Amino acid sequence: MGYLMAGVVLATFFALGEAFGYVRAGVAVAVFFLMARFGVRWMRSAVTSQPEPEVADVSEYGLKYVCTMCGLELKIEVAAKDRAPSHCMEPMVLVRTDQPSAPPD
Ligand SMILES: [Zn+2]
Repeated sequence: MGYLMAGVVLATFFALGEAFGYVRAGVAVAVFFLMARFGVRWMRSAVTSQPEPEVADVSEYGLKYVCTMCGLELKIEVAAKDRAPSHCMEPMVLVRTDQPSAPPD
C-alpha cells in the first residue's frame, strides 16, 4: 500500500472517529478493507481467468463422465482441464466407451 493510500485511510479514520466515535470508525475501516481485499481478489481471479484455456477436441475418444450416485452421464466433447466435475456431491468418474457416437470412416 502506498503512503498516499495510507494517508487517505488515516485521514478518513480520524474524520470518521471525530464524527461517529473511534470504535465505529475502526469497524468501518476494517470492513472497508475486507471488502476491498475481497474485491481485488475477485478482480484478479476474473482477470487471470480471462485468457482462453488450452482446450482439446476429444469428441472422437468417446469419453464421458458418469455420476456413480445417480447415473448421470456427461459426454466430453472438448476437454479444457483434467479435473473431474462433481455431481451429487461426489466427483464424477471418467469412462471411455468403446463405441464412439460418430466413428470415423
Ligand atoms: Zn449425480
